[in-house]
Amino acid sequence: MIKYAGIIGDSVVDGAGIRLVTFLQGCPRHCTGCHNPALIPNHDGIDMAEKDFVKLLLKKITPQHAGITFSGGDPLMQADALFDVLALLRRKRPELNVWVYTGYNFEEVRNLPAMGLIDVLVDGSFIEEKKDLGLAFRGSSNQRIIDVPKSLVNGGTVVEMKME
Ligand code: SF4
Repeated sequence: MIKYAGIIGDSVVDGAGIRLVTFLQGCPRHCTGCHNPALIPNHDGIDMAEKDFVKLLLKKITPQHAGITFSGGDPLMQADALFDVLALLRRKRPELNVWVYTGYNFEEVRNLPAMGLIDVLVDGSFIEEKKDLGLAFRGSSNQRIIDVPKSLVNGGTVVEMKME
């Protein structure tokens, strides 16, 4: 089962291009200034079997979408369910570009099986003192936009993507 809170079809702030975005429920952190505090409790949200969730996402993806983004909450709190969802998605749509937002640092999660199915990871908790509204696709300057396949090939050393 995966626990999600919602899906939006036309975001341009959660990754490159127009993206389908799903918000997974639950986060272990309580960052001051959290952009989505309603998504922190684990007990809220909608529980759905992974295969039904994938069907729902596939129904909503259109040719206008550059890809799909998993935000939250923290999607990697449900790393096993996320792996199942991504594996099913990749089987149906191998070309889909996948971004994931997480409060973990890449170094903490790089060995998770789900990482092999993610194109871009935006990592790190939101830090209010480092908030910068001028940053593309993230809220605070500690967060990195990471090319996951290149980073994994690079022995697990982060390869950041430059995006203005
Ligand atoms: S990691 Fe994200 S969702 Fe979790 S508390 Fe921090 S800002 Fe909120």
